[in-house]
Amino acid sequence: MLNVIVFGAPGSGKGTQSEKLIDHFGLHHISTGEVLRDHIARGTELGKIADSYISKGQLIPDDLMVKVLAHVLDSNPERTGKGVIFDGFPRTIPQAKALNNMLAERNTGVNAVIGLEVDESDLIERMLRRGQESGRADDNIDTIKKRLDVYHNQTSPLREYYLQEGKYIAIDGNRSVDEIFSDIKSHLDRQLEK
Ligand code: AMP
Repeated sequence: MLNVIVFGAPGSGKGTQSEKLIDHFGLHHISTGEVLRDHIARGTELGKIADSYISKGQLIPDDLMVKVLAHVLDSNPERTGKGVIFDGFPRTIPQAKALNNMLAERNTGVNAVIGLEVDESDLIERMLRRGQESGRADDNIDTIKKRLDVYHNQTSPLREYYLQEGKYIAIDGNRSVDEIFSDIKSHLDRQLEK
């Protein structure tokens, strides 16, 4: 199994690179942001709670988010067989610890963390463009600034956490989509040879 976390600030290209990775490696893609946006679109109870945080640029509380992820993992056992791309999870140290436990219970673990490192000015530009193109509600300048603060305060410590676990692979995300992808691919090919 190849379980990969695609990590980075909002707007760093996690979704784009994850899509390319599933095609190439045949892995199952779990984007917690997409799971939550789907609940919001369907008007579920979880969707209502999620919307109250997402619209403010805040993170959904860890306890709830961990339950959501466990549910997604358990409801797709056949599709998670080859491994999973985790896109947007974990976003806090408690989530990372919970993920380690969840995977250990399933006799597996995190193989690699792909850290997409992008200059801050580019992040804002990319998210504003995505907001215009896709209509994504939280891609407006006020919410983008809050999401970047949340990233620096709560999510970026994970870089150090996974560096210490020997799993963090820094990727220069200031290049073209294809250049970034071929860099990630060669790192993961090496991982598969281990
Ligand atoms: P994303 O699509 O990954 O940018 O996520 C969009 C929003 O969903 C984030 O700004 C958070 O409000 C929420 N979200 C997604 N994943 C998580 C997570 N792992 N923990 C907490 N909140 C999350």
